[in-house]
Amino acid sequence: MKLTADYHMHTPYSDAKSTVMENALRAKELGLEAIGITDHGFSHVMFGVRRKDVPKIVAECHEAERVTGVRVLIGMECNVRGVSGLTCFREEDYETFELFLAGIHVMASYETWSDYRLGWESWWRTLLHLKPSRSLVKDTTQAFINTIKRNPVDVITHLNYQCFADVTEVAKCCRDYGTYLEISSKKQHMTDEELDKAVQTGVRFVVNSDAHHTDRIGDVLLAEEQILRVGVPLDRIDNIDGRLPTFRFAEYKKHL
Ligand SMILES: [Zn+2]
Ligand SMILES: [Zn+2]
Repeated sequence: MKLTADYHMHTPYSDAKSTVMENALRAKELGLEAIGITDHGFSHVMFGVRRKDVPKIVAECHEAERVTGVRVLIGMECNVRGVSGLTCFREEDYETFELFLAGIHVMASYETWSDYRLGWESWWRTLLHLKPSRSLVKDTTQAFINTIKRNPVDVITHLNYQCFADVTEVAKCCRDYGTYLEISSKKQHMTDEELDKAVQTGVRFVVNSDAHHTDRIGDVLLAEEQILRVGVPLDRIDNIDGRLPTFRFAEYKKHL
């Protein structure tokens, strides 16, 4: 399994150390064709990208692409902000950004008070090793499904890391809408059983590093171990072995 492109990494514009250029240079060293600069969404309370920094990010991505020859996509890891499917992007952001990731993060600003349970209740239940209630699973699953239905999301990041969705239902929705399910190499998020259930739905995957430092760019070791253990067919992963994904957001933008 050889990575073609790494579509999830951070920079000092959210909570990481290495710059856009440093990430791109490392990607070039590794022979990657493309990377996605995907800092935390505007609604992340601690590390969200500040709107005033967007022009700088855009300029840095263009410069890094020019210098390295690696395709550098201007992305964002948006927050799933509620059961309604609200994320961080406004319609006018579609023009600027090229890669649309979405995931649940505890420190997001949620749409309503009850939506905070998606982050906070999930977080403390994970911490205390407590099982989720049925209603928490239902709300979390619905939040992902509505996020995928309402927005042209390219990738759902680290599904079920510190949250509890019905993986089969989310994967079916991803499959139907052309959204990728991420197999993260930063931490194992789905259990082996959950990943196996996702495979059964026919959903397609990308593997990503979620690197917060250059030394982890392109590192998919942890994901690879799980992929082999579960027996995920490699032809269902679209950013390895010379393949590049067809992203939904880019397709959507063609018709704007
Ligand atoms: Zn994340
Ligand atoms: Zn991330």
